[in-house]
Amino acid sequence: MSEIGQDLIDLLGKADFDAAEIRRRYAAERDIRLRPEGNSQYIATEAEFSHYADDPYAERLPRDPLHDHVTVAIVGGGYGGVLAGLHLSRVGIKDVRIVEKGGDFGGVWYWNRYPGLRCDTEAYVYMAESESIDFVASEKYARGAEIRESIHKIARNAGLYDKACLQTEVTGMQWDEQEGLWRVRTDRGDDFTAQFVLLANGLLAKPKLPGIPGMEKYRGHTFHTSRWDYDYTGGGPTEVMNGLRGKKVGVVGTAATGVQLIPHVAETAEHLYVFQRTPAAVDVRANRPTDPEWAASLKPGWQQERVENFERTVAGLECAEDMVSDRFSAVGRLFNGSVPWAQRELNRTLSPEEIAFMSETLDNQMMERIRHRVDEVVQDPATAEALKPWHRRMCKRPLFSDDYLPTFNRPNVTLVDTKGLGIDRLTEKGPVVAGSEYEVDCLIFATGYETGQGFDRRAGFSVSGRDGLDLNDYWKGGMLSFQGSFVRNFPNCLFVFWGNTPISFAHTFILNEQGKHLAYVVSEALKRGARVIEPSAEAVDAHVAQVRAASSSQVAFWKECTPSYFNSEGNPEEAQNLFQNVHPDPAPIFFNKLAAWRENGRLEGLELS
Ligand code: NDP
Repeated sequence: MSEIGQDLIDLLGKADFDAAEIRRRYAAERDIRLRPEGNSQYIATEAEFSHYADDPYAERLPRDPLHDHVTVAIVGGGYGGVLAGLHLSRVGIKDVRIVEKGGDFGGVWYWNRYPGLRCDTEAYVYMAESESIDFVASEKYARGAEIRESIHKIARNAGLYDKACLQTEVTGMQWDEQEGLWRVRTDRGDDFTAQFVLLANGLLAKPKLPGIPGMEKYRGHTFHTSRWDYDYTGGGPTEVMNGLRGKKVGVVGTAATGVQLIPHVAETAEHLYVFQRTPAAVDVRANRPTDPEWAASLKPGWQQERVENFERTVAGLECAEDMVSDRFSAVGRLFNGSVPWAQRELNRTLSPEEIAFMSETLDNQMMERIRHRVDEVVQDPATAEALKPWHRRMCKRPLFSDDYLPTFNRPNVTLVDTKGLGIDRLTEKGPVVAGSEYEVDCLIFATGYETGQGFDRRAGFSVSGRDGLDLNDYWKGGMLSFQGSFVRNFPNCLFVFWGNTPISFAHTFILNEQGKHLAYVVSEALKRGARVIEPSAEAVDAHVAQVRAASSSQVAFWKECTPSYFNSEGNPEEAQNLFQNVHPDPAPIFFNKLAAWRENGRLEGLELS
């Protein structure tokens, strides 16, 4: 303790908890949850489970296969693909085809329509290009449908529907060295060429199922939350689900998705069983409608200013004001911004011991408050105890809700705490936990997405570069790129959020900035008459070295965490792990550097031929 300055202790304020005891509890709870199978505990929505990924929202329309050529083919019509398409259209490149599996644009906002769906990041920040579509979200935290519609509007304004291939899945792409083109094949029999391909197929694109023994035995109704079955439940995202009246329903998963939908299922289900493996750490939501006067007072440039302010405050960079000032930005400041903040406040450099002490103290303060909230809200003491999360705040995706915890005071809701072990098995009637069978009519899987996996499993297809080099193999040891966008041996193949960039609490900031950057590079290549662009080996090495240096220093933190997709289910050193592939620069600094790189116009690090 002696090496911790009193000025720092005073700055951090009240710490009336036993940090050593909390550390011990965190480690014990993590150990219970570590599984030797890691990521492979999950079941892919393939083969006998492929129907879990079918589209319940649109009828599949027939069409003839395409055998033509486009300047840019974009894989994925979520925010990433649509924003890239928008920026390409702004630099005059309109010969763009987005290939999208869904029946419309939207990506995660197309697939997810479950009741209660909202974005946790403030809408004025998150809903990219609001200003260009003359739109201000109706609430601080927007509903999914509002976000989806705004994406459609961006796509319409940019003319992206004209050449789009909706309800189409890419099945493979191959670089044709002779022609200097990509060959793209799809499940519709398309076989077309593209001068550039842009992979914006998303981090949360493929739903996964829990690896519960006996999954195939259950005879009741089931679906994954990203394919909500309103035919069965009745109602809609904001309408009462009358179809659940008289039904016993089970929900598996109590993370970002589960926390949002559970209160809505509880409203009409005769009985709801919430099967919990790890309690969610749920902070205050405090949503509110948008003040029309405030919306009318916004001046041109308001959104970029707000996004940059958000990014700067969560990174701990100096800012006159915190415009968003909510619980999500508080987590960002805790995780990324506390060191620069404290050093500024104390006007000195903190030692490594002080940094560790500070980050643990601030984390404990936040988590203690979250645990106390459970006691304040949940009436039954045993249920309250079981709902308390025992891990550091960023070990899991931070969650916010004002109606999740009160749901457990309802007489028709039972928390089935599996004490970290998960459901033992499924019978034809329902889940078995600790020897008790729970008979349910319907079992809803809120169990997330394939993330810490290789390229092929996440994307669902293979990419074959120069000399047949397979991208999945090439990235076995982790992502190798220049600027997170350009990959050697995969010429003219552009990447949106596959890694090697910072991550952000406002994910669309990254997607929008990458879209701008890639549109600039493609337009410059075309202007300069280049057929092929590819990063130099030195540029890739230098970029990846920055990523690797930072990620190896973070492994210790993630190793101590309760398993989740953030740490590849307890294996943070795995090459495919999300946080193994993050660039250490705060997002605004990273993208300012890219803007300066564009400004100097030399395309340094890229080879044009
Ligand atoms: P997650 O992967 O975060 O959570 C999966 C849940 O399923 C966990 O509670 C997990 O428990 C549980 N689970 C898995 N296997 C079993 C099992 N065998 N038995 C019992 N429980 C099991 O998925 P989500 O869909 O909740 O969230 C994914 C991401 O989507 C979020 O992190 C977020 O980025 C995004 N999202 C954002 C939203 C927003 O902005 N509001 C809303 C929804 C999603 P355990 O914790 O023990 O692993």
